[in-house]
Amino acid sequence: MNNPTINKLLKLYPRIKLQSGESFYWSPEKELIVYNENLIDKPVGKWALFHEVAHANLGHVNYSSDLGLLKLEVAAWEEAKIIASRFRSEINEDHIQDCLYVCKSLLQIINVTTVKLIGLCLRLDFVDHID
Ligand SMILES: [Zn+2]
Repeated sequence: MNNPTINKLLKLYPRIKLQSGESFYWSPEKELIVYNENLIDKPVGKWALFHEVAHANLGHVNYSSDLGLLKLEVAAWEEAKIIASRFRSEINEDHIQDCLYVCKSLLQIINVTTVKLIGLCLRLDFVDHID
């Protein structure tokens, strides 16, 4: 896919691997970032992609507790803001808070063990959030 955001991302972070898919997530097993190319030109799509690149850059692999998952999400958003700044862009703070709220809410209904079992991991991120 020849997209300016993707091209620039690969230039800035040559070690990342990207693959087009239905949603946005980081797969630590495959060391692969999946993104939805239909959303990549929208702000939310870019923010989601930066967030997943952040997980990859920070080497996020697993979670030891519910709190751990949330901490990783917060850290990923902080890193995503730095990535966005390299694109001369900013991530909407309300969007970040919304995503963290979704994450917190999900953790109340499914625990981390379940998340691991069903292989959801960071796929929690935006599946239910982007329309
Ligand atoms: Zn995340």
